[in-house]
Amino acid sequence: MCLGVAPVVIGVYYLLVHLGLWPGAQVALYVSANATFAVCALAAARRQPTLRPVMLLLAGSGLAGVAGDVTFYFLALVQSEVAYPSVADVGYLMAYPLMAAGLLLIIRRRTPGWDGASAIDAAIVAVGAGYLVLEHVIAPTVSVTPGTVTKLVSAAYPIGDLMLIMVGARLVLGAGPRSFALRLIGVYLALVLGADTLYSIQSLNGTYQIANYLDAVWMVSGYLFAAAVLHPSAVKLVMRSSADMPDATTGRLIVLAVAAVTAPASLLIQYITGRHPHVAAAAAVCIVLFLLVLARMAGLVRAQRQAAITDGLTGLRSRRYLEESLTNEAARSHRSGQPLSMLLLDIDHFKQVNDTYGHGGGDRVLVEVTHRLRELVRPGDTVARYGGEEFAVLLPATDPDVALAVAERVRRGVANAPIAVTEGQLTQVTVSIGMAWMPGVPTVDELVLAADRALYAAKNAGRNQVASAGTPASVPLAA
Ligand code: GH3
Ligand code: MG
Ligand code: MG
Repeated sequence: MCLGVAPVVIGVYYLLVHLGLWPGAQVALYVSANATFAVCALAAARRQPTLRPVMLLLAGSGLAGVAGDVTFYFLALVQSEVAYPSVADVGYLMAYPLMAAGLLLIIRRRTPGWDGASAIDAAIVAVGAGYLVLEHVIAPTVSVTPGTVTKLVSAAYPIGDLMLIMVGARLVLGAGPRSFALRLIGVYLALVLGADTLYSIQSLNGTYQIANYLDAVWMVSGYLFAAAVLHPSAVKLVMRSSADMPDATTGRLIVLAVAAVTAPASLLIQYITGRHPHVAAAAAVCIVLFLLVLARMAGLVRAQRQAAITDGLTGLRSRRYLEESLTNEAARSHRSGQPLSMLLLDIDHFKQVNDTYGHGGGDRVLVEVTHRLRELVRPGDTVARYGGEEFAVLLPATDPDVALAVAERVRRGVANAPIAVTEGQLTQVTVSIGMAWMPGVPTVDELVLAADRALYAAKNAGRNQVASAGTPASVPLAA
């Protein structure tokens, strides 16, 4: 209804403006946009308890806009020309922080963690846009307006817009469901910010005329916002999402690229066209942008490294990490003269688990075996997923007899309690374990080979047992 009513209201508004009829009705139609926005936000607050605080803040922003409009037109009725700045500006300016607070609350609810990557992306957009606003709107506005208060009020509008750009970019670029309501809010912000900027530019070069096309943009955006908060998908606005590293989609990269080159590009254009850019401001913005891009890169590299050394299913260390670790620990063991022990585990008859419960059931067994393994070894020991259903445990500064005791503890820990494969279905799983140690064998390669051979021996001896390198079938199956 909001989306359908908007074109009619705007059409009638321009018709009345064109005919010069009923100024009161013109005002009412214009104010209806912000009023609809506020009323719909209040309705949403009533209807959806989870959205209440967010919607009350947003309704506050709409009401501040209405207060600004009403005061402005009241002053226009009393005085022939409204002085600038006036009390109406208080209402208009109050709308900014209230809107920003509402959007920030949405962001907070959506992303429980800090989601640093999205925050950096939003900062890149905000700094790039901020430079443009500063260079082309705030600086010229402040230089042509007389009086400190007027300067402050004139600068406050673009600063408010900038605040919304920052929060809006954080909202749109952050993690969380891209609901229809969220898209509408994105379009609303783009329209309002675009119209505000055009208004500032037109005011600066004296081309602004009352009731020009910008009124239509402001009015449309009010109704769009009303539609956004009433849309059923509005509940998804505050739905919690995992704060994973956002995907580097083409859209995101284009936005970041454009934001990152705005300052140097604008500097270059101004230089070529013979104008006098604020070099210091542009240079400062470039420095900040470089640092932000570097911070983002560092995060990506760290995430890449983390992914390479972590197993996706179990969260254990990957085989790659284990191999790096083995080399380091072997060198340390060599230096300190302390032994380094290694266990290699393989789940017995795992193919049967997969055949009986499917691959998903098999995966759940792998995850549960991981939990038990983690609890049964010391925090300093490295536990890795060595292959499909093979695990490796690295035990630094551990004698072979202690390592055998750990292996036996693990074997029992896995075998002693059944594992829930599916809802209500339990299965019994056992593991065979091979143990090898340095300096029992001289090199890392031989350590792995010896552990593998010991594992093979444990399998051959009937499974569900521990064997150590060098002894044919060592530790007997405990009761
Ligand atoms: P054994 O006692 O001799 O070890 O018998 P087994 O059936 O466990 O034999 P093997 O170790 O060769 O079996 C490995 C099986 O593990 C084959 C493969 O389908 C399964 N597997 C490997 N990776 C995964 C995985 O990530 N998830 C699941 N569900 N199964 C896996
Ligand atoms: Mg295997
Ligand atoms: Mg197996």
